[in-house]
Amino acid sequence: MQLDTLIQGGTIVTAVDTYASDIGIAGGRITAIAQDLPRESARQVLSAAGSYVIPGGIDVHTHLDMPFGGTMSADDFETGTIAAAFGGTTTLIDFAIQYKGQTLRTAFDTWMKKAEGKAAIDYAFHCIITDLPDARLEEMDALVRDGVASFKLFMAYPGVFMLDDANIFRAFSQAAKNGALVCMHAENGGAIDVIVKRALAEGKTAPKYHALTRPTTAEAEAVGRAIALAEMAGAPVYIVHLSCNDALERVREARDRGLPVYAETCPQYLYLSLDNFDVPGFEGAKYVFTPPLREKWHQEKLWSGLAHDQLQVVSTDHCPFCYKEQKELGLNDFTKIPNGGPGIENRLSLVYTGGVGGGRFSVNRFVEIVSTTPAKLFGLFPRKGTIVVGSDADLVIFDPNKEETISAKTHHMRVDYSMFEGIHVKGLPRQVLVGGKVTIDDGKFVGHVGQGQFLKRQTYSGM
Ligand SMILES: [Zn+2]
Repeated sequence: MQLDTLIQGGTIVTAVDTYASDIGIAGGRITAIAQDLPRESARQVLSAAGSYVIPGGIDVHTHLDMPFGGTMSADDFETGTIAAAFGGTTTLIDFAIQYKGQTLRTAFDTWMKKAEGKAAIDYAFHCIITDLPDARLEEMDALVRDGVASFKLFMAYPGVFMLDDANIFRAFSQAAKNGALVCMHAENGGAIDVIVKRALAEGKTAPKYHALTRPTTAEAEAVGRAIALAEMAGAPVYIVHLSCNDALERVREARDRGLPVYAETCPQYLYLSLDNFDVPGFEGAKYVFTPPLREKWHQEKLWSGLAHDQLQVVSTDHCPFCYKEQKELGLNDFTKIPNGGPGIENRLSLVYTGGVGGGRFSVNRFVEIVSTTPAKLFGLFPRKGTIVVGSDADLVIFDPNKEETISAKTHHMRVDYSMFEGIHVKGLPRQVLVGGKVTIDDGKFVGHVGQGQFLKRQTYSGM
């Protein structure tokens, strides 16, 4: 048995197992899992002694090279996927946006071009639907056949992204037939817009008012409505970037009734809070994203939700805008601040540190949250999301004792600040393999731009 690479002496961790074994890789796939595989059979040997070997992270919520508010998110598919790899993420699912009047196919083609030849990790797309005349319904089926097996809808941003309930219900009904999973941005956009207008009229223009004009009730109401519409259509639903306990309770209630309702949260909601707006001048703009930061007590509820499978996934909603010149577009008006924050590089270390390091859940649950469940929900399992013979050799040699203090000075995202500046993490990747190729080696990028492949995904098949 000829191996390209042998990973020796590590502890394999999947969502269900923890055991010592070597891993043999050939042709980009895992071809052997056994103890004491012979060194001589491999061209390259990596030592994983003292480390876990985990399936590569899957980030199902990123916005690379995305237009927003007259500017573009600061990472493209080259810089964003390299930064992802540094953090142990080997697959991402980004969003192709259909603008009003466009076909869904135009959205897909546009984003395929953005990624072509640039990605250092594998990638796939959800399609954002903002306009849904009858002709688009059949187009949903065609995209699903082409591997775009999920759609994102907005209940916020009226006039830009928001769909009304009738169209949301039509989309759910179509998804119930074609096997797609609908991802929902759940906030009551109509009510929020009224609150925002009032704030501006009262001269409240500072960054913190972005957060203070988007109450948790607006999120919880929309989560409840999304679940009801999905239930009526007989479709599953995946709530993106859930930020608060009120919304979590709606998800918990639905799951207790046995409905196929899933939700993700993001590291910013687990680590940051309204307190982050207590900074000088305009610096609060660094924390302007949607849904906004909440009171600190929500954090522990979200961690608990992850521990008890009320929340299933942590993604990043990576949508970076530089503080200089980009965030500054909203200097005199918080509604002009581009919404989004950078995080694609920090997800695994933050979830490990707070989850496993913090004694909240096991290392297996960590793998499940950052890799296995995303793979299962979004049609990539078992090619991705686990370690078995035949799966892609997307692997992270993860050192539970490696430490670092997060800083914009040392991160690899193309953005001039870090939301997590100064936070100390313990548990970081040492080596990251993408399709069997060592891509990150002790803090150095040694992969190739363009080595990432587009992934055609399977339809949702339940968990
Ligand atoms: Zn997003």
